Amino acid sequence: KTNNFDVVVVGSGGGGFSAAIEAKEAGKKVAIIEKMPTVGGNTLISGGEMNAPGNWVQKKLKIKGDSVKSYYQDTMKDGDNLGDPKMVHILANNALGSAKWLRDDIHVNFIKDQLFQFGGHSYKRALIPVGHTGQELVTKLDKKATALKIPIYTNTKAKSLIKQNGRIVGVKARYQDKKNVTFNAKNAVILTTGGFGSNVKMRTKYNKEYDKRYKSTDTAGTQGDGIVMAQKVGAKLTNMKYIQTYPIANPKTGMISLLADTRFDGAILVNQEGNRFVEELERRDVISKAILKQTGGYTYQIWNDKIDGISKTKAAHKAEYNELIKEGLLYKADSIDELAKDFKIDPTTLKATIKKVNRYAKTGKDKDFHHRAGLVSLAKGPYYIEKAVPSVHHTMGGLVINEKTEVLNQQGKAIPGLYAAGELTGVIQGSNRLGGNAIADIITFGRIAGQTTGKLK
Ligand code: ADP
Repeated sequence: KTNNFDVVVVGSGGGGFSAAIEAKEAGKKVAIIEKMPTVGGNTLISGGEMNAPGNWVQKKLKIKGDSVKSYYQDTMKDGDNLGDPKMVHILANNALGSAKWLRDDIHVNFIKDQLFQFGGHSYKRALIPVGHTGQELVTKLDKKATALKIPIYTNTKAKSLIKQNGRIVGVKARYQDKKNVTFNAKNAVILTTGGFGSNVKMRTKYNKEYDKRYKSTDTAGTQGDGIVMAQKVGAKLTNMKYIQTYPIANPKTGMISLLADTRFDGAILVNQEGNRFVEELERRDVISKAILKQTGGYTYQIWNDKIDGISKTKAAHKAEYNELIKEGLLYKADSIDELAKDFKIDPTTLKATIKKVNRYAKTGKDKDFHHRAGLVSLAKGPYYIEKAVPSVHHTMGGLVINEKTEVLNQQGKAIPGLYAAGELTGVIQGSNRLGGNAIADIITFGRIAGQTTGKLK
């Protein structure tokens, strides 16, 4: 079967939807193809938070001083300056515009009076969608795509790119692994297939460390398909060895713990001995490595009702809360003694640790680990304690794209007809992606891909 379009978008995460919507609004005949039965990719199961310097919630909360420059610097620095400065500038300059587009054009509801300060950021600058997950984003993007009558071919897996006279002119796909389908693209193919976090073989090909000992927070579809397809038509790859683990994930399933987002509002991390061992707002890679060095390679995150009152994650992630309790990975307790008993931590050490935290909370100075936002008092229960391990979360490396999102070949020249945006690109996040930067990246460059291809003759 053959289908004819102007622009074919491969992958229906936030990057793919943004690209398709922009190209369609520019007048193109657009299709999205998605290999899974449902849309959304990792965007759907993420926390959905999005960095935007100078945003409206910062104004409301009177958070002053944030700027495009500060956001640019945080992103570059904590990616060890391995992102492409030109591309990171585009991200920083456009993040607020992308957030406003989601708010005003896509009708995404962001919480009006709460922000997250993820590790590595100098300010609280991450907007939070209602429900604290990417579901709000994907639901609204899908609604917009439907209103624009963009066809979405689910259960349709792109297998290879069609090249004719040096130009990408379409995609060969399989429907339900039964039927071959060809999608011709008059103007462009846009790859938005996400990363390769669920592909153990591909992970170890680029970095031996991340073998099957590590679980992943990603959906099963996160297999690096787009990277491999583009590579076969000559695309250049970069930063492939940089694979991010999310420090706080379920030890049994590898799933990200969104309940544990209390960490951004003062929850602490301790080891089996009951001692803190890292600044809780450090970079994800730093925290992950520190956890793996502790007894058993896991951590306990501890917080109280006061902290939950700030981050409100218990209400937002009820299902996760109940599941963790059921699995014996989370306990609620009224006293620190009880808290220690649940996971057989030495109560004397744990009490001493928490006493110090309370003192540092008062003075505003964390003498041990220099908590950048200032610790919060844990003097009062009830308390929560959750066991967690690092889990593969984001692959920073991928395709080299330019400011128009054209995919570049080994010689640094654009491959005609081929565009890419989102996690499968490798030029934004450097060695380490900051929290809230994936959504900012995929929406910004997804839109640019749609706008650029929307203008092609
Ligand atoms: P991003 O955040 O970059 O937008 P996501 O992980 O949110 O990436 O979305 C990527 C989507 O692409 C997922 O829904 C995934 O199932 C889909 N996908 C991956 N490989 C293919 C493929 N070969 N054909 C069609 N869809 C694919």
